Amino acid sequence: MIKSSFHGVIDEIPGISVDNFERADAVQARAYFLSHCHSDHTQGLFTKELIETLERTRACLYMSEPTAAIIEDENNDERLLKYIKILPLGRNSIILPPSPSQNLPELYLTVTLITAAHSFGSVMFLFQTTNKNVLFTGDFRISNNNVSKYTYFHDKNGDAIHLDALYVDTTFLDEYTPSPERPPDAIDKLHEVISQLATAKHNPIYRAQEEYQIKPEIVHFRSANPALKFEINSDSIVRVIQDLLTSNAVKQYTDIAAKKAAVVYRTIKEEMRKEDLE
Ligand SMILES: [Zn+2]
Repeated sequence: MIKSSFHGVIDEIPGISVDNFERADAVQARAYFLSHCHSDHTQGLFTKELIETLERTRACLYMSEPTAAIIEDENNDERLLKYIKILPLGRNSIILPPSPSQNLPELYLTVTLITAAHSFGSVMFLFQTTNKNVLFTGDFRISNNNVSKYTYFHDKNGDAIHLDALYVDTTFLDEYTPSPERPPDAIDKLHEVISQLATAKHNPIYRAQEEYQIKPEIVHFRSANPALKFEINSDSIVRVIQDLLTSNAVKQYTDIAAKKAAVVYRTIKEEMRKEDLE
């Protein structure tokens, strides 16, 4: 099983951990956030180390209601479940307790949950403090036509809000068997194109320490095992997403891959179209 290469720490907002629950004792998070229930995002969640750390720190685990229900279904350990706090979609205010050992004062944090249209209950987190805006996308699906409807990414004039950091999650499948129908370099090429795009325009910082192990989830680009994460600094997620969606390089490539491998890129487009119609 390929583990998430994202360590969970959000540099701009000290003391929180997102989609990673490993090394809880060392991390000493003041709050944890879970975007959705796929196993690569729940690393460490069901460990004794996490429970023991929570019992000491009293940190909460924040997530959407459906995600909490799935977690409860998978694990009924009361010692863990009692730290789960459900956040509704939209804007929420939470207070992170001070952490004297880490020299961190109390922090008022606005957390906006935005539907990620990935798996049941999946959300993106927009974290806002008095001087930082950070968006963590988790796995997400967004249609170009719908970008303007994401009101939380815009101010009241309809302009994209300034983001100090954008944590984008790209998902590829763990198991990939090359075959005549699936060109072996397909996803490597796609990755290369996206990387170039990101490098050229948005000066990304790559967080993954390990080999990327880029393997395609050609079937539907949804997977329990993403192996690659980008962290991209950008003024605007809208601009980044629009660039990706409107990039001819990416589009041409995905079209070719879809044809060659008879994969379901078309299905994605149909799903997006369906969403537009809904
Ligand atoms: Zn996922």
